[in-house]
Amino acid sequence: MQIINSVQEMQQWCLSHKKAGKTIGLVPTMGYLHNGHLALVKAARKECDIVVVSVFVNPIQFGVGEDFEEYPRDLSHDAGLLEKEQVNAVFAPPVREMYPAGYNTFVEVTGEITQKMCGNSRPGHFKGVTTVVSKLFHICFADRAYFGQKDAQQAMIVDKMVRELNFPLEIIRVPIVREPDGLAMSSRNVYLDADQRKQALVLNQALQAAQQVIQEGERNIEVVRDVMKKKIEQSPDARIDYIEINDARDLSTVERITEPVLLALAVRFGNTRLIDNLLVEV
Ligand code: AMP
Repeated sequence: MQIINSVQEMQQWCLSHKKAGKTIGLVPTMGYLHNGHLALVKAARKECDIVVVSVFVNPIQFGVGEDFEEYPRDLSHDAGLLEKEQVNAVFAPPVREMYPAGYNTFVEVTGEITQKMCGNSRPGHFKGVTTVVSKLFHICFADRAYFGQKDAQQAMIVDKMVRELNFPLEIIRVPIVREPDGLAMSSRNVYLDADQRKQALVLNQALQAAQQVIQEGERNIEVVRDVMKKKIEQSPDARIDYIEINDARDLSTVERITEPVLLALAVRFGNTRLIDNLLVEV
């Protein structure tokens, strides 16, 4: 397994495989890998000749006062996990390699899809995401790129960007991987103390409770939102950032639940902000 830090070297390495007729699968990550990330890697390994995993904590997708500096990092541990998954190359560029002094080019998806949910609570976040993944797609000549349903809004925005800018690649979405007790795996879970870790179970519980009332026939958005709100409020330290119910295809606003919906939550425990979601069919 190669570990490559330079953009030029990564691009040449991928180009040589591309010219040899190989398909390239890219898994973009910010590192501190867990089984959620590895599910993406395994899917790529099954479907592509060459698998590249990028490990890059992207500063431009973090807002002022967010956790860019504290974000957990452990490249040698990540490399060990990726070697076991038979990954061909890890791309781990320093920040100045991706954004040299004077860097000024950004890719932005506009409209409702980037304005609600995390777009509303983290201004500029998705512009940072679409910029870095555009760069990664160009650097790695990816035929397929793998994204987790854990960040459902991100996957939908990247998919829209790829279609609208005619990137010649396919976005593959991988289901959320959870801990045995239901908490969605996240690199940020390490920030939680033991008590917060227990309380964080309310995210998945709220989604499950909402799914149940929808399946029992409830179609009113406010009623379903209230089910989730009440469940989260059972946890004394939870501070709700958002609870949203949107059209599962494009995150457009729905009046009533008549089509598949995405239930989505962001909840803070202390300084830790957790997100989770569930796609519910009707
Ligand atoms: P991150 O390192 O948090 O930026 O995540 C990198 C990729 O892994 C993103 O596409 C995430 O959606 C995906 N991912 C993170 N956690 C999970 C999880 N628990 N299940 C599935 N995919 C995940």
